[in-house]
Amino acid sequence: MVKKATKKEIEAIREKFVEQYSGAVTELNYTNLYELLVSVMLSAQCTDKRVNIITPALFQAYPDPQSLANADLEEVKSLIKTCSFFNNKAKNLIKMAQSVCDDFAGEIPLDPKELVKLAGVGEKTANVVMIEYTGANLMAVDTHVFRVSHRLGLSDAPTATKTAEQLTKRLKTDLHTLHQAMVLFGRYICTAKNPKCETECFLQEFCKSKESFKAK
Ligand code: SF4
Repeated sequence: MVKKATKKEIEAIREKFVEQYSGAVTELNYTNLYELLVSVMLSAQCTDKRVNIITPALFQAYPDPQSLANADLEEVKSLIKTCSFFNNKAKNLIKMAQSVCDDFAGEIPLDPKELVKLAGVGEKTANVVMIEYTGANLMAVDTHVFRVSHRLGLSDAPTATKTAEQLTKRLKTDLHTLHQAMVLFGRYICTAKNPKCETECFLQEFCKSKESFKAK
C-alpha cells in the first residue's frame, strides 16, 4: 500500500517541481491547435519521439481538419503505420476531423467540454491539449504521471482517472506545470525501470518507494 504524502510534503514537492520545470512544454512538435490535437491523439501508448517522426509527412498530406476529413483511410494508415494501434488511430483521426467540420464549422473548439465531443478524443487527450495550448489549470494522467505520483505518495488511486481527480484536489494550482513536470521527471529520472534515485532525483527525501530500487 502506498504511503500518503503529508500536506507539508505535497507543498514541498510542488515547489521543487515548479522550480525545476517552470516553463516546460510538451516534446511533441506542432505549429497550431490542429497539429497539437493530432499529435496528442497519436501519442497514446506511443512515444513522443515516434510521433514526431510520423507527423511531418502526415501534416504535409493533410494540413488541416478539412483535408483530413476527406482523407482516404488506407493512406492515413500507411502514413502512421509505425505508430502503435495505427488502425484505430487512423479511423479516429478521420472521424475527429469530420466532426470538427460537421459540428464545429471547421474550427477545433478550445474548451475541454467541447473537445471531448470529438470522435476519438477522451478527457485525457482534451486536458493535455488544453494544458499545452492554453496553460489551463487541469491535470492529465499518463503512465509517467501515474507512476511518479504514486511513488511520491501524491496519489493512491487505482486508475488514471481517479489519480487525476486526486491530484487535482490535492495540488489545486499550477496543475499545467505540475503535469509537464511529472511527465518529464518520469520520462528521464523516475523511470519505470532503474530510476535514477541516487544520481539525479531531487525528490529522494519525499519518496515512498526508493527502498525498492536500492542496489541489493
Ligand atoms: S527516489 Fe527514485 S523512485 Fe523515488 S521519486 Fe526519486 S527517482 Fe523516483
